[in-house]
Amino acid sequence: MLERGEVANSWRTERWDSLRLLTPNWQSRLPGLRYEGPEPDGYMTAGEVTGFIERFAATARAPVRTGTNVTSVRRADDGYLVRTTGGELRCRAVVIASGACNQPSVPRFSDAVPPSVEQLTPFDYRDPAKLPDGGVLVVGASATGVQLAAELQRSGRPVTLAVGEHVRLPRLYRGRDVLWWMDASGVWDQRHDEIDDLTRARRLPSPQLVGTPERATLDLNALAAMGVELVGRWSMVRDGRALFSGGLRNVFSLADLKLRRLLDTFDEWALTSGRDAEFVAPERSAPTGVPAAARLQLDLGSGEIRSIVWATGFRPDYGWLDVPVVDEKGQLQHEGGVVASPGLFALGLPVLRQRRSTFICGIEDDAREVIEHLARYLAGR
Ligand SMILES: Cc1cc2nc3c(=O)[nH]c(=O)nc-3n(C[C@H](O)[C@H](O)[C@H](O)COP(=O)(O)OP(=O)(O)OC[C@H]3O[C@@H](n4cnc5c(N)ncnc54)[C@H](O)[C@@H]3O)c2cc1C
Repeated sequence: MLERGEVANSWRTERWDSLRLLTPNWQSRLPGLRYEGPEPDGYMTAGEVTGFIERFAATARAPVRTGTNVTSVRRADDGYLVRTTGGELRCRAVVIASGACNQPSVPRFSDAVPPSVEQLTPFDYRDPAKLPDGGVLVVGASATGVQLAAELQRSGRPVTLAVGEHVRLPRLYRGRDVLWWMDASGVWDQRHDEIDDLTRARRLPSPQLVGTPERATLDLNALAAMGVELVGRWSMVRDGRALFSGGLRNVFSLADLKLRRLLDTFDEWALTSGRDAEFVAPERSAPTGVPAAARLQLDLGSGEIRSIVWATGFRPDYGWLDVPVVDEKGQLQHEGGVVASPGLFALGLPVLRQRRSTFICGIEDDAREVIEHLARYLAGR
């Protein structure tokens, strides 16, 4: 196992200070290791995730060569030639587990933002003190965007949040964590070959969730109540002005509709599995409030906005992979972790084999199944 940094490198170096997992502790499972502390319904800090993964590496006696950056992987004879900062390796098969979120994804028009406005990505951000005083424009309303918008607004900086397509979820539903419902009702068991639009499922934004001791919901209504100003998707910069899409009402009602459908699925499962009586009565969140007159543009030179936080997602980095298996969008082409190059496999990507694959708790099943393919390949079958 080759790792350019240390074990749990992304959790050590690429997370902001206040980040906690949005998945509850009991859901943090790795093969043979589960959370056994006093707060199964709590959410781990990034430091605790690092400790958890380190513990796993130690108990599994994972043969990790840290500080070894893979700079190139190419086909050679009947296997691969792997070049690293620690020398070359030849191997018959390679499992790519280099992560799905190696770099922040920032739109090109960020180049047109006036230099007086500071720009940060979640990789640069550590805490609000990193930003100048004054207004902040947070771009993107998925997990990262809503979490940073709330933290920055609480720090006394007026926050404007640009909202595109998003996934709205309450933290708790009928008394249980909403991710408990995902797990129990089988939504997360849905397999890659059963999903109608797999490409879309793999690109789905992360849900509007935060892990806090209060187990609070952090949807757009919660942010608006804190004083965060909501505007539409940021589409371009023209003459030093940020232009936002209209039609917030449609974007909000689509997210509300999808949420209602999901909660219907949970209720249906509760009834058909005979467990309905275990939970409080079904409930529905209020629709997302549409601002009376959302601004369609903002003058970036006026001084109102002093900094921009790009919470516009993350993407993988396959700059080192010299095998033609990456599409024009920079995504690895694979079928449930089996890549279209003999002996090349992948793990740790969104919806790799099931919806659960996007999360830490998905790796156990995925690894077992991908290893079966790998073993068959090595056995020459
Ligand atoms: C902001 C954020 C919040 C998240 N929150 C949650 C959550 O609440 N719950 C959850 O289940 N999941 C969450 N995830 C997803 C989570 O990151 C993954 O579930 C988990 O960390 C994936 O582990 P991984 O080992 O597949 O990838 P990574 O953690 O990305 O690890 C990949 C490793 O490969 C190394 N690497 C990359 N390229 C090379 C190279 N060329 N040579 C050598 N080494 C290389 C990296 O240094 C890194 O250590 C979150 C992700 C992000 C970005």
